[in-house]
Amino acid sequence: MDEKFIHYPMVIGGDRVSTGSQDLIDPATGKVFATVALGTKADVDRAVAAAKQAQVGWGELTYGERSAAIMKFADALESHAEELAMLESKNAGKATKLTINGDIPFSVDNFRYFASICRRQEGAAAGEYIGGYTSMLRREPVGVVGAITPWNYPMNMAAWKIAPAIAAGNAIVLKPAPNTPITTIRMAEIALEAGLPEGLINIVTGGAEVGEAICTHPDVNMVSFTGSTRTGKRVAELASPMIKRVTLELGGKAPFVVFADADLEAAAQGAVVGAYVNSGQDCTAAARIYVQNEVYDQFLSRLVELSKQVKVGNPFDEDTDIGPLSSLAHLNKVRGYVEEARQQGIEVITCGEVPSEGFYFPPTILVNPPQKANCVQEEIFGPVVTIQKFSTEAEAIELANDTPYGLAASVWTLNVQKAMRMAKAIQAGAVWINDHIPIGSEMPHGGFKQSGIGKDLSHYALEEYTIVKHVAFDVTGDRRKPWHFTTFGKAD
Ligand code: NAD
Repeated sequence: MDEKFIHYPMVIGGDRVSTGSQDLIDPATGKVFATVALGTKADVDRAVAAAKQAQVGWGELTYGERSAAIMKFADALESHAEELAMLESKNAGKATKLTINGDIPFSVDNFRYFASICRRQEGAAAGEYIGGYTSMLRREPVGVVGAITPWNYPMNMAAWKIAPAIAAGNAIVLKPAPNTPITTIRMAEIALEAGLPEGLINIVTGGAEVGEAICTHPDVNMVSFTGSTRTGKRVAELASPMIKRVTLELGGKAPFVVFADADLEAAAQGAVVGAYVNSGQDCTAAARIYVQNEVYDQFLSRLVELSKQVKVGNPFDEDTDIGPLSSLAHLNKVRGYVEEARQQGIEVITCGEVPSEGFYFPPTILVNPPQKANCVQEEIFGPVVTIQKFSTEAEAIELANDTPYGLAASVWTLNVQKAMRMAKAIQAGAVWINDHIPIGSEMPHGGFKQSGIGKDLSHYALEEYTIVKHVAFDVTGDRRKPWHFTTFGKAD
């Protein structure tokens, strides 16, 4: 281990564990700034055993006790907000504007939200649904949850998994993305300091090997995954032989549909935020803009103007809008898509300058590509947006739905009836009208089609982390039930 750098260990049970070591690269400089433990299958085994043990006592707490403990943890996280925001910006290259005002407070709010709603579980009233029986429903914890998260919103994605999982009475073993583990590790450390039980939240670092060990461990009853559709398919495959519960929050390629009757200035501003926020590394980013013929030229010229005003730079500068991409490999992938588009004869508008060192990429507009081009069909996951024309509402619906994804979409129009028709017709887990990207703890997030299965956030997420059980009481003692084959005598 290089002593120059801070080293981040895993959190397993109540211990800090450093099995191996790997470098963490600062995306703003391309240089090593810290090291992190590198977990193995044996660490997963140990973490799952710790979680299994912790879950027993945790699952026995009353809802009120569990809620109070999570609220206390949320307060502790909030008191570390500045530290967490700085770490997230350093590790993932995210502008502090975003981590201070978005990622960290939103994560704290997630914990408070799930701590609140776990006290009010949804279910049918106990009653007589079968003659002679009283039925009730229980929502049982799943047990040990395995979670795997991506690098684009490291702390948010971890909070979206941990908060509902523990609020529902489960314990968790979470693997963050290999290059952005720091805030997830700090969260687990803060949880211990705030008094949450040892083993309730375990963090094992590493890549596919650790992820696969989580997905196949016999004592992991559910796998909650966020990442690419390609890896999601592998996770589903690994989890299926043991019929583990699976939720998959996967890729997206959100359409952004602008009708001629929209407030064009609001739409252009919304497109700039929606397309470039977090350097476009957002599963709901406005990746495909479709504009009605009549206003296409006007909209494009305003989009270019506004895109040139986006400040790309050091994540720690107050006026920076977007920082670098999160890794060199990802920068090369984004570059590759833009280069391919250029070679296909698609017009590329590059907006603005970027710093020379680090993994920066400028806001980029790909003009009028064919609908079947890779840049329209596949996730680029950078500050790169395509723009195309449409003529009718029916054509807009067809284009919007024409990718394998279905995570999010937005529609821009001042016609309420049209907005309602579009909201119904678009196949996506979220449709925003006259905005793009707003998200809250109370509202479900999750995909249609190959964008995934299940929901994060909202009470639907809490349900994902519980199993419904029907309990039926015979309230008569009468053994002569009409459907019995034989009768062994009367109860009296
Ligand atoms: P990725 O699929 O490459 O990796 C995600 C996680 O899976 C990482 O922790 C990775 O180490 C792990 N992993 C890799 N191979 C594995 C395997 N064989 N078994 C188990 N785990 C494995 O995704 P990424 O590049 O880190 O993240 C970007 C992707 O995440 C994009 O596609 C984006 O759309 C998606 N995403 C989706 C949502 C959502 O809510 N739908 C949110 C954020 C990001």
